[in-house]
Amino acid sequence: MSVYWNSRTKNLKPYIPGEQPGDRRFIKLNTNENPYPPSPEVIKAVQKAAGDRLRLYPDPACTEFREAAAARYGVQPEQVFAGNGSDEVLAFAFGAFFETGLSAEADVLFPDITYSFYPVYAALWGIPFRIIPLDDNFSIRTADYKIPSGGAVFPNPNAPTGKALPLADILPLAEYLEKNGRVFILDEAYAAFGADSAVPYINDHPNLLTVHTLSKSASLAGLRVGFAIGNAELIRGLCSVRDSFNSYTLDRLALAGGAAALSDSAYYDGINRRVTASRERVSGTLRELGFELLPSAANFIFMKHPAVNGAAFFGALRERGILVRHFNKDRIADYLRVTIGTDGEMDAFLSACREITGV
Ligand code: PMP
Repeated sequence: MSVYWNSRTKNLKPYIPGEQPGDRRFIKLNTNENPYPPSPEVIKAVQKAAGDRLRLYPDPACTEFREAAAARYGVQPEQVFAGNGSDEVLAFAFGAFFETGLSAEADVLFPDITYSFYPVYAALWGIPFRIIPLDDNFSIRTADYKIPSGGAVFPNPNAPTGKALPLADILPLAEYLEKNGRVFILDEAYAAFGADSAVPYINDHPNLLTVHTLSKSASLAGLRVGFAIGNAELIRGLCSVRDSFNSYTLDRLALAGGAAALSDSAYYDGINRRVTASRERVSGTLRELGFELLPSAANFIFMKHPAVNGAAFFGALRERGILVRHFNKDRIADYLRVTIGTDGEMDAFLSACREITGV
């Protein structure tokens, strides 16, 4: 810590992303990337954009990208906001919609076990928050969120549990928060792998902001493209925060590649069906081997073995060249989050699991 850091910087507790190893070749099942390549149309679009026009600033309104997202989701371009990964979209949304304040009614609600970036954004903006524990089966109980608050945020499916909620739970919560004048941020990072999206209901709920990413279902974690879909007033609020920070958060390559990805659903439906088929196959085998798994609607599984400590299991897999994610946190310290890789990678993972547990 430097004497030159201000007190705000000294107090930050930044999010720590999963390891991106440089030195050694690992089977990388730790950051929920897609194991299959992006659509060939994306590569063509990025290559085409990598030319003389890089001299020029990109379109600050992200018009072509927003039109592609609007066409893909059946909404208006004014209902789409684009950002540098959904992390940036989430950070702007916290800043745009959640109040700083001292009363309990200003507390933003999210689960105890969820995406660990949420408390980091709240702290960055000075937004008070309250943690709502998942139930004993690691499910979000939406009734617990129907209390006076400053708003709510969680992913569907949740991460790292992978558990999805039906819209029959999500939409009444949106309505409750709407009646209380609060925003509900629904992070749909993993929805393409098995949850129903709430996007078709954004016109019914002007307080519902759905957040999306091309990092997982579109195999583009390296391009950094995320977006939000919601009421046009919410989108204008996000633009206002962005334009007080950086007018050009998406570069020309990301805008072109992102638009191409959103226009090639057929390709992505194909690879994501492969991911979910592998998830089901691997889950079945792991259960036969005595592992306990939560039912996953995402591109990862959350699992533990009754006889193996989570940290030790993580280390044993790492020694065998397999990277997964372990969270040293109450209630989940014995679990591992394992991204679904190719069938070959998952076979290597299963062999390592057999070896480590001796079954
Ligand atoms: N939301 C959730 C629940 C995530 O797990 C992630 C990935 N770490 C993100 C958002 C952010 O994804 P990205 O910034 O790559 O779009």
